[in-house]
Amino acid sequence: MIAIGVDIGGTFIKVGLVNEKGKVIDRGKIETIKDNPKTCLENVSKVILELIKKNKVKVSGVGIGMPGLLNNGTLIESSNLKPWLGTNIASVINKNTHIKVAISNDANVAALGEATFGAAKSANNVILLTLGTGIGGGIIINKKIYDGNKGQGAELGHVVISLDGEKCGCGRNGCLETFASARALIRQAIKEMELNKKSYMWKLVDNNLDNVDASTPFKAEKHSDKSAKKVIDNYVKYLSQGILNYCNIFRPEIVLLSGGVALQKANLTNKVNKYLKDHYYGLKGAEKVIVKTSTLGYDTGVIGAACLILLK
Ligand SMILES: [Zn+2]
Repeated sequence: MIAIGVDIGGTFIKVGLVNEKGKVIDRGKIETIKDNPKTCLENVSKVILELIKKNKVKVSGVGIGMPGLLNNGTLIESSNLKPWLGTNIASVINKNTHIKVAISNDANVAALGEATFGAAKSANNVILLTLGTGIGGGIIINKKIYDGNKGQGAELGHVVISLDGEKCGCGRNGCLETFASARALIRQAIKEMELNKKSYMWKLVDNNLDNVDASTPFKAEKHSDKSAKKVIDNYVKYLSQGILNYCNIFRPEIVLLSGGVALQKANLTNKVNKYLKDHYYGLKGAEKVIVKTSTLGYDTGVIGAACLILLK
């Protein structure tokens, strides 16, 4: 069986032909046209049809991973594709290609891809968090996506960690996203740098705060920088508290981290696993929850989206 996986991002859209072993056989990539979803989805449809023609294959369907909140294939909430709101992405692609289409939120499909072919292959129950500009969430229960009524659940980034926290894009205060996204980490690093002009983080960014990224505090910590350590300890504490909440609800075997901050790999997961070990509810005698980083990398979105078809 072969399926098409489409990974829609704010800048690029990746399209791949994926076989039943989760291998990407061929791929295409186009730019996202933010202000013109119609033309953009026509371009996506062209790439899909070209890939099928070029490889002389029959595909079982098109799976799509889309950032934002969907209602039966229609985008109803999005942070950076506002002109796409109201577009039924699934039905447009189906109309253009005459191929069966399945669609889900991008974090859900990433979780499905990792639980099928990636870092959580061994697990039945998985939580995935994408630590990027915001925090996306994917929930896998018994190897299937759990996304609530009409696919609108699993918004794990918008679980409140502190009522007195900062205002979140969703309208509430103190969501996990405001503490543990890459953007939040950068904000916290800048705050500490301003308090400590001697921090090694200044050297790493050539004294320019615009150069601070999610790796800056982790690099500085290796040089025994106290401010960086404070930023990371705080970050790990809040991220882990969020994960502990999910553990108490779902008790997954594996929690996967992906996105910008997860590029730190063991440097991050070792700290989080240690924090969890000291703070589990019912730790003694209970099964451990292991925090890992995702492994499918560049192809996660495409493979995960194809899984929407391959696993049917
Ligand atoms: Zn929120």
